[in-house]
Amino acid sequence: MTLTGNGNGNGNNRDVSNERSFGGERPNALELAWVRVRAHLRSEYGDAAFKNWLRSLTLLRASGDKVVLAVTSKFWRDWIAAHYGDRLVALWKAENLGFNGVEIVVNAVEAKEPRPRGDALEMPQRETDEARPQPAPAAMNGEEPRLGDVQNLCTPLDPRLTFETFVIGKPNEFAHAAALRVAEADEIPFNPLFLYGGVGLGKTHLMHATAWRLRMRNPARRVMFLSSETFMHLFVKAVRYKDTHAFKEQFRSVDVLMIDDVQFFGEKSATQEELFHTFNALVDHRRQVIISADKPPVDLQGIEERLKSRLGSGVVAQLNPTNYELRLSILQAKAEQKGVAIPSKVTEFLAHKITSNIRELEGAMTRLFAHATLLNSREISIDMAQEVLQDLLRANDRHVTIDDIQKRVCEHYNIKMADLLSPRRARAVARPRQVAMYLAKQLTTRSLPEIGRKFGGRDHTTIMHGVRKIEELRGGDPSLNEDIEILTRSLTR
Ligand code: ADP
Ligand code: MG
Repeated sequence: MTLTGNGNGNGNNRDVSNERSFGGERPNALELAWVRVRAHLRSEYGDAAFKNWLRSLTLLRASGDKVVLAVTSKFWRDWIAAHYGDRLVALWKAENLGFNGVEIVVNAVEAKEPRPRGDALEMPQRETDEARPQPAPAAMNGEEPRLGDVQNLCTPLDPRLTFETFVIGKPNEFAHAAALRVAEADEIPFNPLFLYGGVGLGKTHLMHATAWRLRMRNPARRVMFLSSETFMHLFVKAVRYKDTHAFKEQFRSVDVLMIDDVQFFGEKSATQEELFHTFNALVDHRRQVIISADKPPVDLQGIEERLKSRLGSGVVAQLNPTNYELRLSILQAKAEQKGVAIPSKVTEFLAHKITSNIRELEGAMTRLFAHATLLNSREISIDMAQEVLQDLLRANDRHVTIDDIQKRVCEHYNIKMADLLSPRRARAVARPRQVAMYLAKQLTTRSLPEIGRKFGGRDHTTIMHGVRKIEELRGGDPSLNEDIEILTRSLTR
């Protein structure tokens, strides 16, 4: 397994002629560097992690621009690569000995296996076929994708995606609270945690944040974070190599399993079956499972009923489409993080205009900052934003009108337009009216007084009250929430 900082590791062009061997009488530069790298790792990850995982690594040799480390089993190799790979590479690079990557080979003779903790589930120990020193990792045979992909087992965690950088607002506060609860609890509070929401609304961010926090609170905890593609890839590979037993054991030996974007499992019934069994085994052994998808479990397409019902049996938390306030807070937070001064007029403009999702909002900011910096801190203004973000703004400009909203709301709730605009306060019309006001605020750039005029000449405070009311109710009323989503989707399609 070769790890490189930029993920393009290609061990096939290993330059054997340039091998610097290791193991002379006097510590050489390589050994000394290894001592320093280990000391860094130990101080960064703590003694527990060091004892559990890192101690099992030994230095073999340098090979070309790579350092070759050995470990006793495939499992440990993948585990270390996934959790510490990036850091290992960075620390070796920082030693300035010309290394660009780290290769981890399975070699039971050279390395000592640390004992796993005494859990009910044992680590896979397949000493028989791994006790032999292996000439090269499996990936060398050209059968496998090269392992610059630490992803082959775990998706590496992004250091930027933490709870500290996650901005909380009405649309995501429940999902945030649920994730934080899982991250900070000593006992499993509920199982599984199922996070769902549209693209770019923060599912992956929350999962990474949870994994970081879990790891920080207890570095020895085995947290496995996978994309659904990786899960499937590993499974398919295991089937191909007739190694499903080890596959199962690997998953079942973790403390926390996180799988991102399970909607991609649709129709892949063997993988589903496997997830189902893995899931049951983990829950039965009191291990935490965290799942994300773009829809709630009941709406997942092509997923078996029993799996859906298991997925929905813990806490299901939604990342709702953003509102203006959240978008504004995110823009302010990002500007602050980057230390860029951006006039509030511009953040307000962007928060109004870029309503699709947080990823696009971030993209807009990045582009704006880059532009300002490249042009020698040209001041960020609305004009500049309009010029630089033309395409994004156009894509977000869905031209939803208040008339459209009112019409759609009347159809949805089966009420008359005259009633919607009338002063009648009967709940059957008052609630849909508030929903329409809320949508007008969310989906158009009209001001409150403008919206008021469109609602039979109401005062802007009435509109504000309606908007607030719906915001408040959304949190605790799934059917209202669903109405709003259906309406939003049909209006913005
Ligand atoms: P998803 O997985 O739901 O598609 P991501 O978690 O990848 O979305 O989020 C998209 C981008 O938006 C990421 O860069 C993420 O850091 C950012 N983001 C999402 N939600 C928030 C938030 N509440 N605060 C700050 N940044 C966020
Ligand atoms: Mg995601």
